[in-house]
Amino acid sequence: MGAEGLEFSWCWQRQPKGRTATELSSLCRLLSTASLDHNLKDSWTWAFSNNGLFTVKLLNSIIDEQTMDSTSQLATLRNNLIPKKVEVFILRTQHKRLPVKTELDKRGIDLHSVRCPVCDDDLESLEHALITCKYASEIWDRIHKWWSIRNTGPYTLVDLTSNNCPVPSSSPDVWQALKWIGLYCIWKNRNHKVFKGKPWNTPMIFNEIQSLSYLWIANRVRGLLA
Ligand SMILES: [Zn+2]
Repeated sequence: MGAEGLEFSWCWQRQPKGRTATELSSLCRLLSTASLDHNLKDSWTWAFSNNGLFTVKLLNSIIDEQTMDSTSQLATLRNNLIPKKVEVFILRTQHKRLPVKTELDKRGIDLHSVRCPVCDDDLESLEHALITCKYASEIWDRIHKWWSIRNTGPYTLVDLTSNNCPVPSSSPDVWQALKWIGLYCIWKNRNHKVFKGKPWNTPMIFNEIQSLSYLWIANRVRGLLA
């Protein structure tokens, strides 16, 4: 604390730049008028409540309010054969809300690299991560073979998240559920590689897609028929 308020002594490993630097200078401006009373104890306060106290109940209601829009959009994105969490994932994908590296970079997040963490051959866009990455395409090839469907070339994200994709005429809902489970598992395993260092294993991921499809779709079809 100096004569003119707070003074900072930084020791950066990497100099902040771009949006981080802008946010840092805003923070310093905000703190420049702060004064600390050494006679008072430090304490945490939560800005979202009037009394400064954190409660899970209030946090829940804030989250509910914030996600209300998404929930109402879910009404137009329904497939009764899969769990809600997969529908929410597809909704996030449609709205480009998955934190692939190029999307994070666009939002000013300072990243070491924007290359695909799975193949390291290309930039990690949403379409690359879920469709065109050579490892993701291996999964789609296996899904096509499993369903004896001719692979008509790389899909787009719109193809996969909507009903535009050529479908086996007898079971469009099941095929759509399967595509969504495929996208969900590819993303989940991409995250396992990024955050847990788990190696990508195409046969295992394909097995996971098959198992989840049987588990989720078969159970729900039984429920719908009951
Ligand atoms: Zn890749």
